Amino acid sequence: MSDPRAHIMPVYAPPSEVFVRGEGVNLITEDGDKYLDFVAGIAVSSLGHSHPKLVEVLQDQAANLWHLSNMFRVRAGEELADKMCARTFADRVFFTNSGTEAVECALKAARKYHWSKGNDDRIEFVTFTGAFHGRSLGAINAGGNPKYLEGFGPAIEGFRQLEWGDHDALKEAVTDKTCAVFVEPVQGEGGVRAMPEECLTGLRKLCDETGTLLIYDEVQCGMGRTGKLFAHEWAENAQPDIMCVAKGVGGGFPFGACLMTEEVGLPMQPGSHGSTYGGNPLAMAVGNAVWDIISDEAFLAEVRRVSGTVSQGLKSLADSHPDKVEGVTGKGLLTGLKLKSAPKPVQNACREKGLLVGVAGNNVLRLAPPLIIEDGDVRKAVSVMDEALSEWEMEG
Ligand SMILES: *Cc1c(COP(=O)(O)O)cnc(C)c1O
Repeated sequence: MSDPRAHIMPVYAPPSEVFVRGEGVNLITEDGDKYLDFVAGIAVSSLGHSHPKLVEVLQDQAANLWHLSNMFRVRAGEELADKMCARTFADRVFFTNSGTEAVECALKAARKYHWSKGNDDRIEFVTFTGAFHGRSLGAINAGGNPKYLEGFGPAIEGFRQLEWGDHDALKEAVTDKTCAVFVEPVQGEGGVRAMPEECLTGLRKLCDETGTLLIYDEVQCGMGRTGKLFAHEWAENAQPDIMCVAKGVGGGFPFGACLMTEEVGLPMQPGSHGSTYGGNPLAMAVGNAVWDIISDEAFLAEVRRVSGTVSQGLKSLADSHPDKVEGVTGKGLLTGLKLKSAPKPVQNACREKGLLVGVAGNNVLRLAPPLIIEDGDVRKAVSVMDEALSEWEMEG
């Protein structure tokens, strides 16, 4: 029999299970096996699978109107942009279909802002090791991961990566010639690493002193994932000028957004940017529903509470497996168990026991469950990880 995957570009290496249905925090295979989903499509299915409200609004919208393009107004998009701006630092929103596109919009808007002020030499973005911003040419240059850049031509001019935590390098690099500092308040792919709150505050101050823009990539850590609506809200006086969101904002429907202040957004006028599908009626219908549910303060308080259960569970795993676990990383429901060797075998063992977890850079087993998990789900996940760690013989 021919390989059913033969014509899929093999840039991923998925396991053999085929999931065909999702119910809340669970995924079900074509053979009817049930798995507890603690990765949620990489922090995307923020309200779990088949959330009744999201199914309802998507089905209603699908029966009415799918697509217009931005030649025409989309009411639900205007409403969602209003809600986002009422609740955040932002005054302008550009809707996209993915995180990468939100990142592209941020990079373009930042350069155009300085250009519009007559500073067309302010093109340099300062980023940090371990960053991940997506897979377009702009995004891989911003991410700076040599593995992702290899073979794709010369580096694009204007990206400078600093060692995470090197404050001296930062003070030297960020000047009145810098375009923007671009950072994930909690790194996802780079190893589930939270930037200390006082560092975000310090970055804001440094940017203010030099006229540099501060851009947050909250594609993974935003939208309630850390227990605040956006991760940077944990820090005092640390609002950005531009922010990229995606993943959790669509609850599984592909959509993202780039938010910015009025001043920064001013030069983005007709002709400067665009997207055929960005802000389409289907995405906007779902986006409004996700926003209304997650931005509710009681919902966020529950995320913070259950995050405590997760973090206790992970700490107990670190305590009982000191030979295999180095520590617990991350924030809220974007957390990781940092292991002492590569996490793939533990991830596989968990899956064989019915638990789906992710991995991230630097030996981290990554947990990004739906925000609707309950204590019982956490206990189950921790007990599976406990078993997997106990059985795991480390190589080397
Ligand atoms: C996933 C991710 C992206 C890219 O989003 P896509 O929707 O895959 O294009 C960008 N930044 C961060 C922090 C991410 O986690």
